[in-house]
Amino acid sequence: MKLPNFACLLCQQYSDHPVCEYCKTDTCFLAKGGYKDNLLTYPQIRRQFRHSGYDNLYACGEYQWPFTDLVHNMKFHRCLTSARILADWFVEFCIHEDTLLPDCLLPVPVHFRRFMHRRFNQAAVIARHISNQIDRPVYHDWACRKGGKTQHKLSRSQRLLNLRRAFSTSIPHDVHHVAIIDDVMTTGVTADVLAKQLRAHQPALIIDIWVMALTTCNPLIQRTRCAD
Ligand SMILES: [Zn+2]
Repeated sequence: MKLPNFACLLCQQYSDHPVCEYCKTDTCFLAKGGYKDNLLTYPQIRRQFRHSGYDNLYACGEYQWPFTDLVHNMKFHRCLTSARILADWFVEFCIHEDTLLPDCLLPVPVHFRRFMHRRFNQAAVIARHISNQIDRPVYHDWACRKGGKTQHKLSRSQRLLNLRRAFSTSIPHDVHHVAIIDDVMTTGVTADVLAKQLRAHQPALIIDIWVMALTTCNPLIQRTRCAD
């Protein structure tokens, strides 16, 4: 029987896996650069992202190759294998035996118009893959987008106000620890607004943010160190 050929999603070379071992070795995982567990314990990360509403931030890498390619393929080419790879990497590099796992996973909702265009929410797909591996449920209806104006036409302060009004959130009262899931964190504002809304309902709630990649102003790790 002739076996099908597989190509690495990133370099298109022959590979038994969706991402070949060479591309994975070349990937800058934050954990390889010494950034482990709660990233808010690192001042250079605390400075870059708004974080007043949540307790812990976990991320797999910086938003550069190959995370840019995987996220782009997932969002714009509906490549769900890319979502699975990101989720697998997150579990491999960010979750350990002693990691305090949340009671449930909360994917950040996409705007209705984007959902109608893309027909899927990438954060929900990633959350489902992580859920399968850590045996925690995904709550899809925890945050509803109420609409809101288009963000890019607004000033910075108007954007924040618009964002605060854009969501309504709710979770069951027996939930004590949650992880908000998204693909990329750029400024942290959306995650922070959502976290603050949840905490307003339940002040003792422990809130994690789990993202696959962070957009950083200054590189956190040098690429030459990544393959160590
Ligand atoms: Zn490759």
